[in-house]
Amino acid sequence: MNENALKPVYSDPSHLVILGAGASVASSLKNPEPNGKKLPSMLDFIEVVGLEDIVQSLPIEFDSENFEDVYSKLYEKDPQSDIINEIERRVSEYFISMKLPPEPTIYDYLVMSLRPKDVIATFDWDPFLYDAFWRNHTKTRLPWSIYLHGNVRIGHCVRDMRKGLVGTHCSKCKLPFTPSKLLFPITQKNYSADPYMKTEWTAFADALKHSRLVTVFGYSVPKTDVEAIRLMSEAWGTSGDRNLEQFEIIDIQAEDIVYERWAKFIYPGHYDYSTDYFDSRLGLSPRRTAEVYMHKIHPSTAEEALRNERNPVPRNFTTLEEIWTWFDPLIEAEEEASQLEDSDQ
Ligand SMILES: [Zn+2]
Repeated sequence: MNENALKPVYSDPSHLVILGAGASVASSLKNPEPNGKKLPSMLDFIEVVGLEDIVQSLPIEFDSENFEDVYSKLYEKDPQSDIINEIERRVSEYFISMKLPPEPTIYDYLVMSLRPKDVIATFDWDPFLYDAFWRNHTKTRLPWSIYLHGNVRIGHCVRDMRKGLVGTHCSKCKLPFTPSKLLFPITQKNYSADPYMKTEWTAFADALKHSRLVTVFGYSVPKTDVEAIRLMSEAWGTSGDRNLEQFEIIDIQAEDIVYERWAKFIYPGHYDYSTDYFDSRLGLSPRRTAEVYMHKIHPSTAEEALRNERNPVPRNFTTLEEIWTWFDPLIEAEEEASQLEDSDQ
């Protein structure tokens, strides 16, 4: 622990982290899913999730290796068909039984490395983020979470606009939460048609508007997801509108490819790229990404510049207790800072 990295603590700006399938793949490569379950990509989705028998029985016009194409065509034909229902059942069943291994995963590091002012938005259906929130939530106040494509752990009550763990009940009306819908046809993804999805996307747009730091981890925005691109661009504005913001990409793909993908979001020079979570801002300055960013744009004193020193989190912890112990001094410094703030008011 670098003692110089503990203070100061600022209450803003917020840091938004956007997760895609690549984040879960990276986490599973480091610590495999205990039942040996693989994270599918859109190209091997049919095989990994076990939909081959369904897809092989379909007429030739549905033939495609890309699951989203097949699903969209089926949906266009009849959104209520038995095949659609069976596909949805199997997809949900595949992801719902996945779990985190007992040792610390990248997801545990991630949720511990951000603060309540920050937001994690995920496009993933797997339960890793939710489960990491659950097993770390008693240790500190965690960031906000947004599930942009629904999630196997998340249910909602549309009437009271609440969300919670599938299988539990809405605290207001006491009715069971409705599991989130996971599949949307790519040709007509309409996130505002479903009231629950609409609130998630509104919260996401808000986070994009107000965050000064954005990290995109393993998410390659599919060209077909026109609606997602439109909503993100609208909330973010042009790169010229965001000339103070810092954009970061964590991806195993080559830098020029991922840069091209996000170029219109990035103000020239204001971006970082790494292939490994532990080399990112989150890994190098956990819980202090905003402070490091602020000191970089306002390096007013030598003392503050000193605080830019890195405080990389060790990547090889073998128990959750080790992670929590390492984070303790950072969390204590935050508590001290907030008490000081309270006594000033
Ligand atoms: Zn309710």
